[in-house]
Amino acid sequence: MSSKGKSGPSWLDKAKTRIKKTLGMNVFLCDTCKWDWRGACHHWERPNATWCPDYEKRGK
Ligand code: SF4
Repeated sequence: MSSKGKSGPSWLDKAKTRIKKTLGMNVFLCDTCKWDWRGACHHWERPNATWCPDYEKRGK
């Protein structure tokens, strides 16, 4: 199984999120995700997901 699996954030993902929080950066992926609207996203984490297997940057 690869470390980029969809079962959850890796320790590296968690570390990145923690560092961003520490620096006062935006840690919520949904703000820039193209699926951030009702009907497209069914994750309960929306709109405050800090890690998501389906995240895709908006505007690509
Ligand atoms: S797909 Fe993930 S990142 Fe995108 S809006 Fe849904 S929960 Fe947020």
